[in-house]
Amino acid sequence: MRILIAEDDPAIVSFLVKGLKAEGYSTAVASDGLEASHLLSSNLEVFDLVLLDLGLPRQSGLDVLSRLRQRDAALPVIVLTARAEVADKVRGLELGANDYVTKPFSFAELLARIRATVRAASQPTTNELVVEDLRLDLFTKVAWRGERRIDLAPREWALLELFMRHPNHVLSRTRILNEVWEYGFDPGNNIVDVYVSYLRKKINFEGATPLILTVRGAGYRLVAS
Ligand code: CA
Repeated sequence: MRILIAEDDPAIVSFLVKGLKAEGYSTAVASDGLEASHLLSSNLEVFDLVLLDLGLPRQSGLDVLSRLRQRDAALPVIVLTARAEVADKVRGLELGANDYVTKPFSFAELLARIRATVRAASQPTTNELVVEDLRLDLFTKVAWRGERRIDLAPREWALLELFMRHPNHVLSRTRILNEVWEYGFDPGNNIVDVYVSYLRKKINFEGATPLILTVRGAGYRLVAS
């Protein structure tokens, strides 16, 4: 694993290079912002993580980060920042830094942040809700039951997503109204029952186990084993 250290303080650079090497990481150093941006545009693919000082000469760390994020959204970046730079720290996170470490920091703390950041970056982002053989792809907004694709209207989607985020919970009509319709419908209105019946028709095709049960006097429940 190769880490780019973008830092202009030679004492910090030497401390980081030695420590990271001892932990088995290989490193490259950029001692100003332009050099960091140049390395990240010409050799982006060789780096697995960037340690980025915000106070860099020639180009600020925030500029380096925003340029990097225009080209690569995924390369993990840990910002190294002084205590006085709180606003910059916030800006850094907004620009897409994965984490930050405040100077002065211990090597053990930095190492823990590096490991956590790399671990988080290597996890596939969960974009699916799965309950029994129901599957919602939250990115593409496509629903499946087993191998069958289910086309849902936006309210039906919101209703099914609510059930799938709370499997086995009894959801009252009032709660469903508040979360799916978001404004004060008259609780006497039977719109929830109507939409639950639409949803059931779509997900309960022939031979499939009914998954949304009516709980008398209480609401509805999505059954998960
Ligand atoms: Ca600096």
